[in-house]
Amino acid sequence: MLAIDPKEQLLPLLKTHFGYDDFRPNQLEVISDFLNKKDVLAIMPTGGGKSLCFQLTALAMEGTAIVISPLIALMKDQVDVLQANGIAAAYYNSSQPQEIQQDIFQQLKNGELKLFYVAPESIAHFDTVFDEIKVSLFAVDEAHCISSWGHDFRPAYTQLGSLKNRFPNIPVMALTATADKATQDDIVEQLTIPDASRHLASFNRPNLYLDVRPGQNRIKQILNFLVSRSDESGIIYCLSRKNTEKLAEKLQNSGYEAKAYHAGMSTQERTQVQEDFINDRTPIICATIAFGMGIDKSNVRWVIHYNLPKNLEGYYQEIGRGGRDSLPAHTLLFYSYADVVQLRKFIAESENAQVQYAKLERMQQYAEALSCRRIALLNYFGEHVTQGCGNCDICKAPPKYFDATVLTQKICSAVVRVKEKEPMGTVIDVLRGAQNANVYDKGFQSIKTYGAVKDVSWQDLQQYIIQLLNQGVLEINFRENGRIALTPLAKEILYEKKPVQLAILNQVEKQTEKKTRVKADKKGLFEKLRVLRYQIAQEQGVPAYVVFGDASLKDMEAKQPLTKSEFEEVSGVGKAKLEKYADIFLKEIAAHVESVKPKVPTHEQTLALFKEGFSPAEIAAKRELTENTIYSHLLKMHSQGEEIDLNELVTTEELSTIEKAKIDLPEAEGLKAYFEYFEEKVPYWKIKIGLYLLDVH
Ligand code: ADP
Ligand code: MG
Ligand code: ZN
Repeated sequence: MLAIDPKEQLLPLLKTHFGYDDFRPNQLEVISDFLNKKDVLAIMPTGGGKSLCFQLTALAMEGTAIVISPLIALMKDQVDVLQANGIAAAYYNSSQPQEIQQDIFQQLKNGELKLFYVAPESIAHFDTVFDEIKVSLFAVDEAHCISSWGHDFRPAYTQLGSLKNRFPNIPVMALTATADKATQDDIVEQLTIPDASRHLASFNRPNLYLDVRPGQNRIKQILNFLVSRSDESGIIYCLSRKNTEKLAEKLQNSGYEAKAYHAGMSTQERTQVQEDFINDRTPIICATIAFGMGIDKSNVRWVIHYNLPKNLEGYYQEIGRGGRDSLPAHTLLFYSYADVVQLRKFIAESENAQVQYAKLERMQQYAEALSCRRIALLNYFGEHVTQGCGNCDICKAPPKYFDATVLTQKICSAVVRVKEKEPMGTVIDVLRGAQNANVYDKGFQSIKTYGAVKDVSWQDLQQYIIQLLNQGVLEINFRENGRIALTPLAKEILYEKKPVQLAILNQVEKQTEKKTRVKADKKGLFEKLRVLRYQIAQEQGVPAYVVFGDASLKDMEAKQPLTKSEFEEVSGVGKAKLEKYADIFLKEIAAHVESVKPKVPTHEQTLALFKEGFSPAEIAAKRELTENTIYSHLLKMHSQGEEIDLNELVTTEELSTIEKAKIDLPEAEGLKAYFEYFEEKVPYWKIKIGLYLLDVH
């Protein structure tokens, strides 16, 4: 099927069916390899555009593509999107009504489907059908589910290993966002596609803004954050079920549409919340990490971690749910030391605790980083970059340092005086001269450093101590009550006056930064298109992004197409959507363009037409105004210095009769007297112009 240049072949398909002008990284390579009869393992980050790899391949091949996907919600989403693009697709699911199942079965048998989605549990039902029809390919989406190494192991996936044996001539495409090499090897082995060509895309998601803030006054910070984002979709991840509910309630009390989601709710409730989110009815979800796995919603504009995740894999997957449409998305992580303590407790009770501690430590290091967060993140996933990203809080406002030698000495000294036996909280209390039972019970109010750092707030002092932990000045002994101890480096500072630099804390700046974001675009075209999209989606009973993604609306806003062929240029407008939506969207865009046009004063519009050569009568007809009005416009423009030959409109003869009337009517105040004087035979406008001309000459 492929000629010399696969790109030339595939680009028109991409535009016709999906409306896109170019491939995302690795898509073309994956598809080309596959079309060259190779099995493929495609590893791309969440939102990287994996589905398109098998969808477009399916369109380029004869027969039906069989897609194995773990969740109904995922299948439904993709089928909705495909159908909206005019592609014959269906999914089968054991809970569908029987008539529908039969119908789909029939379509499949008749070879009417380009793509057929099925869960691994149901695939056995179709074994004989696959023998009878022409299957173009097998695509195994979320392929890491086959591996017990992976984080979402699904026993039913293991049956997929026999596919290759049963259908050795049908190529297999496996797709996953799992970066872990052991899992990748396992996928290939279990699917018995040992020679699969592997395509590993960069895990960088440059449109995700990475932001970390201290976990203090989180509610207040979230409310600040939401000020400029009231109707954008976003997710807030919390550690506990209780927290999701409390948070949702607080946000509701502040006037936001927010709902909780956690595994303790009934399936029905959860489905409802998820549907409302997907359909843009509920913009904000406060959820445990159970939420999001089955969601391909492309316009999640922000993701907040209310609590620290337990490792970077989970964190990256969760923030990855933002900005799938490649438009900017803001991710915000709240970092609190209490969360670390809590997570360590969880880990202590679990198996392979050593690995988990190590992962948590990397998570902490990320949260405490003082250089580009993306560098830290990508390095963790084995991509070695050195260039700062420019799209994280650190790159935006690199930390400034101050000489903290004295402060550090005081802190270290306090640690010594409490005999290196106390946890961070107590050390802070001592330094700040706290008057609480714990301090008094231990007699710390009488030691020398008691109250030595009164002028620094509790939270700031905690941040400084965290920095000292990171610099290896202090260490924390988690097994023994989290007591803080000195390292040899601390001793150099304490006894040899080795200088220390610490980063200046700039939370205040960070907290207010977003408040100043202008709301200028609120009434812009994008907003209007969003409303229109929502109405259409409601009518058709599909999620809004099935109609158009945010990226398409943004592109419409930028290009402001006014004709069908201009509309076709918009990203995401393929043949089917052009037919279905061009008219209605063009109408909205035209109305907007008209409404923002600078208003040309009415008499100037008349003049413009006059200069184009239209007669006053023609202008009157065109503009739906009376001729009198047109003439008074021209008169006005003449008086303002425009060159209009009024003598063309009133002959010299007519002028002299008006001059005569003027003498006969010395008392006349308005035009009416003249009009009657001429027995209504000379129109008002002529009288007006005549009088005007007599006046100026
Ligand atoms: P993944 O499965 O890798 O997480 P998806 O397949 O859900 O990602 O794709 C994420 C989004 O990217 C979807 O909205 C999809 O339409 C869009 N997309 C995919 N390929 C392209 C492309 N070449 N150009 C523009 N958008 C694309
Ligand atoms: Mg996917
Ligand atoms: Zn950066």
